Amino acid sequence: MTHSPQTDGIVAARLDSQTLAAHFDDIYPDLDPHEARVAADRCYFCHDAPCVTACPTAIDIPLFIRQIATGMPEAAARTILGQNILGAMCARVCPTETLCEGSCVREVAEGNPVEIGRLQRYATDGLLASNEHPFERAAPTGKRVAVVGAGPAGLACAHRLAMLGHEVVIHDAHAKPGGLNEYGIASYKAANDIAQEEVDWLLRIGGISIVTGSALGRDVSLAELQESHDAVFLGMGLAGVNALRAPGEDLDGVRDAVDFIAELRQCDDLSALPIGRHVVVIGGGMTAVDAAVQSRLLGAEHVTMVYRRDRGAMSASDYELDHASTEGVTILTNAMPVAVTGAGKAQAVEFAYTRSGATGLEKTGETFTLPADQVFKAIGQTLAGAPEGLTLEGGKIAVDAAGRTSVSGIWAGGDCAAGGEDLTVTAVAQGRDAALDIHRALT
Ligand SMILES: Cc1cc2nc3c(=O)[nH]c(=O)nc-3n(C[C@H](O)[C@H](O)[C@H](O)COP(=O)(O)OP(=O)(O)OC[C@H]3O[C@@H](n4cnc5c(N)ncnc54)[C@H](O)[C@@H]3O)c2cc1C
Ligand code: SF4
Repeated sequence: MTHSPQTDGIVAARLDSQTLAAHFDDIYPDLDPHEARVAADRCYFCHDAPCVTACPTAIDIPLFIRQIATGMPEAAARTILGQNILGAMCARVCPTETLCEGSCVREVAEGNPVEIGRLQRYATDGLLASNEHPFERAAPTGKRVAVVGAGPAGLACAHRLAMLGHEVVIHDAHAKPGGLNEYGIASYKAANDIAQEEVDWLLRIGGISIVTGSALGRDVSLAELQESHDAVFLGMGLAGVNALRAPGEDLDGVRDAVDFIAELRQCDDLSALPIGRHVVVIGGGMTAVDAAVQSRLLGAEHVTMVYRRDRGAMSASDYELDHASTEGVTILTNAMPVAVTGAGKAQAVEFAYTRSGATGLEKTGETFTLPADQVFKAIGQTLAGAPEGLTLEGGKIAVDAAGRTSVSGIWAGGDCAAGGEDLTVTAVAQGRDAALDIHRALT
């Protein structure tokens, strides 16, 4: 170890490799078979179960838990994956505290829900490890569908189309498939290369080819895809990021949180990844939490997350925010950045306190300054490179309930489509449902 958390500036190796490995290890160890049976036995197997209604992919949760309770985890995995083909990743990343577990009757009655997420992981991990693929393709339809984006939306759409007998070609701008599962989700939620393992397993259905390094608008045009395919699905996510619009934004040491997280996710040697001593993260969502927590885990001495509104307006859940606090992140609310200052590189961020006024958010007139040798901007992603001719709504691609865009023959889903919740599980649901509608339209 060459540096410590107290070393000034942005430097690598603040912690030794062993500590870093422990910090970035899987956040929730797998349940063993006995623990899974005990956890499953807590389920009341409710009729009209609220947990199912709360699941965007509508997994039959009481059924899969009963299958685990009766010693049939493979059947449980099939129940899950039939609705949500990325069930292994969703078991790790879903904000279950606000979805299924948040509405579990045992949460409502006792404040202690059935551990649905961990049970889902137990079942799906077992199936992935067995390397079996429980679904088969229907007879070939002779139809070809182009999918743009190999993230959760694109993969879920492609898998369902392949099951229904169509040929699918996915174009993705990145070098690896998986979208934010591979480049965005916090490392400790996606340990042991689970994102690629899941993609490899998913592709075993057959009939799907992926062209990586192929960007719509740069390497291939929408017109070309329409010409050579019977339908097109756009699952391109949100590749752009919002600007801070404050002086000093271009100073060295200021960068987008999503770029930092992507670099971290692709890093083979975390002791080589530089991190600041005083890190300031601007934003109040999951990206901000992930950047802040992982900065601490890399050894940053002081990490402060600053959000311009109050805590209740943050899009990160209470669970995520508590996790950040536990990891030593300081969370400040009602403060907005007015300038990043420093001689050639970031040294501090000036903030103005805010309050909600009659005309919206207003500054109180009081300010404060935080030392910062590294500043991460996590103030939202935007749709970049949307093909011309599509109607947009609120900066995203307008779609109807079935995922149809304003142009015939083109569907969209996931983060790039209007009306979603910017969650992995919602992207999966929208990709799957668009595939069903494409199938109806093609046959
Ligand atoms: C840092 C971070 C942490 C998150 N953590 C969580 C979490 O813990 N839980 C959760 O539920 N959600 C989380 N989310 C949100 C979740 O990752 C997204 O909602 C989900 O990945 C959306 O899936 P998608 O398929 O629509 O888009 P993406 O996952 O973004 O995939 C889009 C794909 O399209 C490709 N692409 C983009 N433009 C083009 C183009 N022009 N041509 C070809 N390909 C293109 C990209 O390379 C990418 O592979 C997080 C997001 C971020 C940024
Ligand atoms: S709400 Fe809770 S107890 Fe009822 S079926 Fe769902 S997981 Fe089981």
